[in-house]
Amino acid sequence: MTETAQFGSKKVPLAAKQALVNDVFQSVARRYDLMNDLMSFGLHRAWKDALVTAVNPPRATPFALLDIAGGTGDIALRILEAGGDQTHVTICDINPEMLAVGRERARLQGAEAMVTFAEANAEALPFADRSFDAATIAFGIRNVPRIERALAEAFRVLKIGGKFVCLEFSAVDVPALDRLYDFYSFNVIPALGRLVAGDAESYRYLVESIRRFPKPPAFAAMLRAAGFARVSYQTLSGGIVTLHSGWRL
Ligand code: SAM
Repeated sequence: MTETAQFGSKKVPLAAKQALVNDVFQSVARRYDLMNDLMSFGLHRAWKDALVTAVNPPRATPFALLDIAGGTGDIALRILEAGGDQTHVTICDINPEMLAVGRERARLQGAEAMVTFAEANAEALPFADRSFDAATIAFGIRNVPRIERALAEAFRVLKIGGKFVCLEFSAVDVPALDRLYDFYSFNVIPALGRLVAGDAESYRYLVESIRRFPKPPAFAAMLRAAGFARVSYQTLSGGIVTLHSGWRL
């Protein structure tokens, strides 16, 4: 029997999901950062700052960070700013169009020497075991067809004592806000996608994929199953997003 996966609200053959996801990000790459600001009213910046605080890159010692599904480099460049000269970030993403935007951003910020770009699948990372002090993935994991494989890979490439931090959308848990959020998500976001990125479908996928992603306790259990210790999570903005973390000990 053919294995299946969720692509938003559609069930598709597991082997077909990645290509569909790649089409989404190829289509929106050039407008991706602008759309994040518009859709979240700038809130994604505060969520990403919370991730940077959780990573807490040291300023006085060398620090190697891997940002998985790092896209246009938004997380990696923030980590560099917090960590300073001793930090090196590797941005890994499967999509060349997203990475191209990231390369341009790094160049404009004069950060090229501190960033390595790798076009690669989170399910099969091209890095040696135990090579990073921390690994992050922001709004990326729900797009990966085999989440368990990506978590196992993040665990494998972390040094002992390394931290994994994942930022992902979750489920709003505030009465009334949940209805408003649903209305906004299913009506306003695709319309905004059409207007700004010329692509309503990709943003419909975004909204639907959020609804399908495991709830925080279930995702925390997946982190434990991948081998992470001291797994914890913190919901932000009434549950719109959740920051998960775990350690390789
Ligand atoms: N982390 C960035 C951020 O927070 O702005 C980008 C997040 S974007 C919503 C999701 C990213 O996941 C896209 O750049 C996409 O290409 C990437 N992606 C999807 N599937 C992937 C996979 N299997 N391996 C690596 N990256 C993947």
